[in-house]
Amino acid sequence: MDLSLPRADDLGPFRVLHVQNRAVGLEGMVVVDNVAIGPSIGGIRMAPDVNAEECARLARAMTLKNAAAGLPHGGGKAVIAADPGMPVHDKERLVRCFASAIRDDRSYIPGPDMGTDETCMAWIRDEIGRVVGLPEDSGGIPLDEIGATGFGLTHSVLVALEYCDFELAGARVVIQGFGAVGKHAARFLSQDGAVLVGASDSRGAIYDPDGLDVDALVRTKDEGKSVSEHGSGEARDRDSVLDMECEIWIPAARPDVIREENVHRLKTRLIAQGANIPCTVGAERTLAEAGVVVLPDFIANAGGVICAAVEYAGGNRTQAFETIAEKLRENTGRVLSTSRDRGILPRQAAVALATERVRAAMSHRRWGLF
Ligand code: NAD
Repeated sequence: MDLSLPRADDLGPFRVLHVQNRAVGLEGMVVVDNVAIGPSIGGIRMAPDVNAEECARLARAMTLKNAAAGLPHGGGKAVIAADPGMPVHDKERLVRCFASAIRDDRSYIPGPDMGTDETCMAWIRDEIGRVVGLPEDSGGIPLDEIGATGFGLTHSVLVALEYCDFELAGARVVIQGFGAVGKHAARFLSQDGAVLVGASDSRGAIYDPDGLDVDALVRTKDEGKSVSEHGSGEARDRDSVLDMECEIWIPAARPDVIREENVHRLKTRLIAQGANIPCTVGAERTLAEAGVVVLPDFIANAGGVICAAVEYAGGNRTQAFETIAEKLRENTGRVLSTSRDRGILPRQAAVALATERVRAAMSHRRWGLF
């Protein structure tokens, strides 16, 4: 794993931990970015190609996300360099080994992210007790099963429509990454009248200008197939989602998928960032100049971590949904109105909102502790 980290700044990182165990084949990293507001919460990402830079950038995104959402938590993230599709007993060994390696670092509370799920969180609880995103039978609110992030994304979109020139009824939606976030976003948006016309996963894409049946597409995925193997619609190659014309485009897969050199391929009016850091800042600027509204990741995809924080505080599913809807609507409205009034990018408005809260908390800490 590439261990080179981005340059530190006055917000963090607070702590960086490199963990490895050759006997088990574990190599991972934890970046605790900032704990001024409280112990950090952030997911564990498992993928063969993760690195320290991705971990540190995602940890910063969590600092901003948790602060913007008004949660009593700082930001952190963990990565494990491994194939998440490995046999389950190997995965359990790896995840348990990782958990025991971070046992004593109470500044980091792990949660699920790409490649890890509620079952992984149950193994971690069994090892060290400190975790969010547990299965329901272990006292958790199963955030991916209930679609906490897709639900929040939908509320963010509903508020953003006030800044767009189309309505949700009949609006065409394209989703890159039909996983936990993507499929629930498709489900909630289509319940409100939007039409899913395209979707992709790591193996391919599917397109139907007349609209895809979301429930049937979810079933295709549940059978272990790619969206491109769905019976109806036109199978296409994975990255063709960039070219599919729509009103709402949702990145829900990996970082940096929209960059300066490919941003011109998008033909959309609104981008709701389900994935973390899916767009470079340069690409976001180009989109703003073209009149495309971009909902920043750490505002629009905060549903999952809000749900996790409600679980950590002992709340239930109903409270989680209510809190997500309230916070996502308020924050999206604040960010877009500040962006319009001050003529700045939504991301700049969002960063200002979040860092103001983090700096205020830091000012109360001894030595201005991160
Ligand atoms: P997931 O593993 O359930 O789904 C990811 C999907 O993306 C899979 O279908 C995978 O096949 C697909 N994918 C991977 N690489 C791809 C590529 N290059 N092109 C197209 N599709 C690709 O993960 P998830 O939980 O849905 O998370 C997706 C993104 O959303 C991640 O960036 C994650 O950090 C972010 N996120 C997740 C949550 C959450 O609650 N799960 C919350 C906030 C942010």
